[in-house]
Amino acid sequence: HFNLQIAMTDLFKSGYASIVGRPNVGKSTLLNCLMAKKVAVTSNRPQTTRNKITGVLHLPGAQIILVDTPGIHKSDRTLNEMMVRASLSTFSDVDLLLVMLSAESGFCVEDEFVLNSMRGVKTKKVLVINKVDLVDKSNLLILMDEMNKKSLFEEIIPISALKEDGLDQLKSLILNYLPEGPEYFPKDMDTDCPETFLFGELIREKILKLTRFEIPHSVAVVVEDMYEQNNGVVQIDATIYAEKDSQKKILIGERGSMLKNIGRQARQDIEKRIGAKIFLKLFVKVKANWRDQKKTIKEFGYTHDSF
Ligand code: GDP
Ligand code: MG
Repeated sequence: HFNLQIAMTDLFKSGYASIVGRPNVGKSTLLNCLMAKKVAVTSNRPQTTRNKITGVLHLPGAQIILVDTPGIHKSDRTLNEMMVRASLSTFSDVDLLLVMLSAESGFCVEDEFVLNSMRGVKTKKVLVINKVDLVDKSNLLILMDEMNKKSLFEEIIPISALKEDGLDQLKSLILNYLPEGPEYFPKDMDTDCPETFLFGELIREKILKLTRFEIPHSVAVVVEDMYEQNNGVVQIDATIYAEKDSQKKILIGERGSMLKNIGRQARQDIEKRIGAKIFLKLFVKVKANWRDQKKTIKEFGYTHDSF
């Protein structure tokens, strides 16, 4: 009986793999595709992800805990600094670093900045070259060769997160680097982010999609309240914070058209996620320069332990 138990624990592998890289290479897209559901919001704009997002992948005999991180980049803004710090903080805490590049852009100065930020980090690194759907094979091989010469990575794996190409290979590759370990999360749990935070992110994602210029970067969304009404509909009250009155006007739109649009699209996503009807009540407020105020950034939930 004793031996049998040892044999069983032997079988289970678990651990953390953090997806890191410059903004916009496809980190959050990869997390969502591996999870086969939306956990992190994505957009074609840089700096979409503002804090660490955990996704738990339950596999037979194993559990991979993926950590999606904000893009590593240079900035003087408090919010951006805090975002980058959240990414760096994962370097030594995880079993494996999945360092992501875009095949389309190749290795650029921004990627160099990322590699410099992990100097001296002992955690094993695997290079994930994403967006291979956008380049031809010969260019990909040249890039792989160039990266191979850096002798920084255990392995290099080309994928397309969007086209779900190479994801099974990536999963088994990650498993090779995970130690034996416990089931950190119960089977029905796929993230440790609070639900209210995820709903706020889904609302913010619609704003990223529907607005332009500085607005996507200036916006924060806070879910203030969530409760079930008598008729079973879940009411969610959320506030959209902008930095200026002019931005607030655009977010509301002519006769509320923009806000309605944001609300309708976000509602559909949230209903899909919780499988219930919701009533989404959106407010728009101005909080000047919130991105330079540590206290406000924390209040908005874009926070990280050691900051
Ligand atoms: P992140 O900032 O690194 O998290 O990047 P996102 O996941 O938000 O993706 C940035 C953009 O790249 C989005 O428009 C994605 O749709 C796009 N993208 C991500 N992966 C791929 C891919 O494999 N192929 C292509 N063509 N586009 C991708
Ligand atoms: Mg992201």
